[in-house]
Amino acid sequence: MPPNTHVDIDPTTDHAAETVTRLRATFNTGRTKPLAWRKQQLQALRRVLTEQGDVFEQALQADLGKSATESHFMEIGFLVKEIDHTLRHLDKWLRPSRVSVPLSLVPARAWTVREPLGTVLIISPWNYPVNLALAPLIGALAAGNCVILKPSEVAPATSAVLAHWLPQVLDPQAVAVIEGGVPETTALLEQRFDHIFYTGNGTVGRIVMAAAARHLTPVTLELGGKSPAVVEPGTDLATAARRIVFGKFMNAGQTCVAPDYVLAIGQAGADIEAHLTDAIREMYGTHPARSDDYGHIINERHFDRLSGLLNDGRTVVGGDHDRDALYIAPTVLADVDPDSAVMGQEIFGPILPIVRVPDLDAAIAFITGRDKPLALYAFTASKRSKRRLVAETSSGGLAFGVPTVQLSVHGLPFGGVGESGMGRYHGAHSLDTFSHTKSVLDKPLKPDTLRVTYPPYTRRKDRILRRIT
Ligand code: NAD
Repeated sequence: MPPNTHVDIDPTTDHAAETVTRLRATFNTGRTKPLAWRKQQLQALRRVLTEQGDVFEQALQADLGKSATESHFMEIGFLVKEIDHTLRHLDKWLRPSRVSVPLSLVPARAWTVREPLGTVLIISPWNYPVNLALAPLIGALAAGNCVILKPSEVAPATSAVLAHWLPQVLDPQAVAVIEGGVPETTALLEQRFDHIFYTGNGTVGRIVMAAAARHLTPVTLELGGKSPAVVEPGTDLATAARRIVFGKFMNAGQTCVAPDYVLAIGQAGADIEAHLTDAIREMYGTHPARSDDYGHIINERHFDRLSGLLNDGRTVVGGDHDRDALYIAPTVLADVDPDSAVMGQEIFGPILPIVRVPDLDAAIAFITGRDKPLALYAFTASKRSKRRLVAETSSGGLAFGVPTVQLSVHGLPFGGVGESGMGRYHGAHSLDTFSHTKSVLDKPLKPDTLRVTYPPYTRRKDRILRRIT
């Protein structure tokens, strides 16, 4: 190199590249493959979650105003259960699986084995910043991968806690946390990974997928969208309203699987209004701003977006807001025009519009005429309506009688379809996501039963091959 040439090395890119190279070297030693290593990592993660639970809860309080109870059951406790479920079943999930061989290949044995992918990148969002960082990490470690975790800069207290604790308890040669925002994530996305697991909005999802395509890296995209809650007349509206309010207003509505709007059929639209109001008062009191159990909006940008949607219908309850406190009251809007702004975007905040349709046909047409939602909820007493919703709509998941808690069924896959994402995880499905299922065939050299398949093809061989293949 000529002596005066100045080489600019971007420290962000440099750090990303160095970290990936380091983790790849670790992976190539085979260090992360033994079952014992995987279990140690999961146990260490479990320990830090239980021993430092209050540190995580304080961070969640600082970032989102989450109550300790909600932080426990939606994030920390959830993760501990996911680890326990994984530890309980991991041996079985990793066992090779026998496959039968066709007559033409007998004698031979065939089976599949799951092998780790290598070095994977997990990019997580701010709304459940512990859960959505560590739930994929559990799957990636259980599958025997090296991992770079990039927490969301939008929840800085939680990001700092993850960056502080994970390197202390997990194998630092195999797991790295890189904090930061767009420049750091962009630098990471320039590197070659063996899988990228992204949770967040669809705009960035497209950036991630385009970057991954350059290296032919597979992606999981856990995105969002508008998840409807269909309510039919004849159902127990008081209980339905309580459950919708519980699912909608936890974390101040900033939940990817929260019911985005009520799709009310016939008279249910008018009748549910009072029940929703009662349920909000029951859970958060007449002044939710004073409730310890009601969170705040993450930042001014989201506050401004949300407060601009508050006039898109008749206010049934709520509507008050305070920018300094990042507070928006749990709000229900009725008489909402399906073409209004509140119905044109994922709300991702504490505003619940009620859209009315005459019958189930119209409800199904409303759902299928829009992007496929991450979740579809329905409150109905009719088995026929349930069967129709299962058969005639498409969504990441479908839950009857309760929103949001489908995530706590560890055996159920969690993921979207179409605009709400691609791929799935939780429990055994995480292992599928973070492993390659390799096929293995073992055919002995003796006897050489394949002779009949070798050319030159005689009439006799032709007859036999046509019979057995
Ligand atoms: P966010 O702003 O925290 O972004 C998510 C991640 O993308 C962050 O780590 C961020 O640093 C990174 N990022 C942001 N801009 C980037 C860019 N230009 N290039 C590269 N990386 C970038 O979170 P968000 O997107 O506001 O999250 C909310 C959305 O996520 C909602 O749509 C919600 O429905 C969805 N979500 C989905 C799930 C799910 O499991 N399906 C869970 C939670 C949230």
